[in-house]
Amino acid sequence: MKKITLALLLLVSILSQAQENYPQDAFRSPLDIPIILAGTFGELRSNHFHSGIDIKTQQRQGLPVFAIGDGTVTRIKVSLWGYGKVLYVAHPNGYTSVYGHLQKFSPKIEEYIKRIQYQKKSYEVEVFPDYGELKVNKEELIAYSGNTGGSSGPHLHFEIRSSISEKPTNPLLYGIDVADATNPTLEKLFIYPLSQAAVVNQSQEKIQVNFSKQPDGSFLADKVEATGKIGVGFIGFDRQDMAANRNGVYSVSLSVNGKVYTEYDFESFSFGETRYINTLIDYDHLGKYRQRIQKCFKSPGNNLGIYNEIYNKGEIAIREGLSYTIELLIKDLKGNQVKLIVPVEGKQSQVKIKKQQKKTPYYVVANKPNNFDLTAAKVYFPTNTFYEDFYLDLEKGEDTVKIHTNTVPAHRNFTITFDTAKYTKEEQKQLFIARLDSKLRPSYLNTYKRGNTFTARTRNLGTYTLAKDTIAPKIKTKNFKEKQWLNNYKYLSVSISDDLSGVDSYSATLNGEWILMEYEPKKKTLTYNFDDKILGKKQCVLKVTVTDNVGNQNTLTTPFYRK
Ligand SMILES: [Zn+2]
Repeated sequence: MKKITLALLLLVSILSQAQENYPQDAFRSPLDIPIILAGTFGELRSNHFHSGIDIKTQQRQGLPVFAIGDGTVTRIKVSLWGYGKVLYVAHPNGYTSVYGHLQKFSPKIEEYIKRIQYQKKSYEVEVFPDYGELKVNKEELIAYSGNTGGSSGPHLHFEIRSSISEKPTNPLLYGIDVADATNPTLEKLFIYPLSQAAVVNQSQEKIQVNFSKQPDGSFLADKVEATGKIGVGFIGFDRQDMAANRNGVYSVSLSVNGKVYTEYDFESFSFGETRYINTLIDYDHLGKYRQRIQKCFKSPGNNLGIYNEIYNKGEIAIREGLSYTIELLIKDLKGNQVKLIVPVEGKQSQVKIKKQQKKTPYYVVANKPNNFDLTAAKVYFPTNTFYEDFYLDLEKGEDTVKIHTNTVPAHRNFTITFDTAKYTKEEQKQLFIARLDSKLRPSYLNTYKRGNTFTARTRNLGTYTLAKDTIAPKIKTKNFKEKQWLNNYKYLSVSISDDLSGVDSYSATLNGEWILMEYEPKKKTLTYNFDDKILGKKQCVLKVTVTDNVGNQNTLTTPFYRK
């Protein structure tokens, strides 16, 4: 009986530790170039973990992208933001591969999607082809790499998801090789006093601790004196071979006197939990210094499922008179690692740096709805907008409301309402709610107008204002001039822009018929491909209409000739 229990326990522990068996030979690489990464899976991004790998494409667009295995296209999306042009291919082994920021699709898929774009008269479309309707073979060219959507340089965003759960998994677990003989880099170490009475090196605030390299290659931190519950945080990154990119690390393990307190890795996560990244990182530090500290302890509201091990929430109770050895071990997927030892002595000491807490009349209780009425401006936080209670810094100016600073993470949307009764109906048309950045530049927020009440929803604390946009968008021809002969032209391009509220929509016709113009907001450019349609006419007229977010509109009508 005892033997069976032991064997069972052993089996359970092996199963819980072992990675899922990912197929190693089923897939090929999506590109025909050596895989060099500009981003790793699970990498810390703004409000999310990176759900794939970013493969560098030699600073250019148009590299052929191949299906990694036999499958069928289950989703095609063309969007101005996010993944840009993206393709989803479901494979018979239960995984779906995703290819993002594409320049264009293969001719077969391009034809399929263009038909829908012309049907819907929209560049942005999303379709879910029937299973088997668009089959692809392993090795088949399915697209060309690009820079569309929220991409800031040419690369291929590549994911492998479970087809059923849609959980993204680390694509490098499927046998795709990335040369990496470089250890992760540990940049900064922080120790946090966590309990009320905790003190670290005479401070009630987190402190940075220096460390130095030891002869054996590991790192040793300066000795820390502490009492109460403390936690560890670090800034680190991983570099692969052949590139200087500071990518995310794969796994983090923290142990105290040999016992593992925290262990997590980026084998997979779910989209539902990705925003909880704001509890894993020190959000206050990010807001102030634009650096991401990963915490090795679980803060309130942390619902992440990435932990393989978490003991006492990763909090370390330090008792007076005792010594502790904290070991932090950071690894990349290839097992290259960096090890840091932090010696801690339990010692009561005088507090020199007191906890900084600014008290305001606006205390937010996280698990209750909070409503603040500042006459002419209202702020409403639904229950559980925040992870923790805190003193909200709230100030009202002329048509402006400062709702704290972006140093506290909001998990859910909250509502900002302005009373616009003092404005005429005409003025109200051109007003919108804008977020002001640190340089006081306004950016448009989707503004709902109902009578004299303007409302916007956001998940970012910060300063908001009523702004006015009286100027219509600008439209200019880019690669041609009015009345020009354009016989050998492959494309027509037009630049569009709007200085304040931004471009909301556009449409274009050629000789009175709707045409597809692809919009690239980063380049402020609309492009028409002459292959789309036979003109059958010498004298042509291109008409482009652009509307901004408050409804100001402009139209450009340009005649040209083509044989
Ligand atoms: Zn990416």
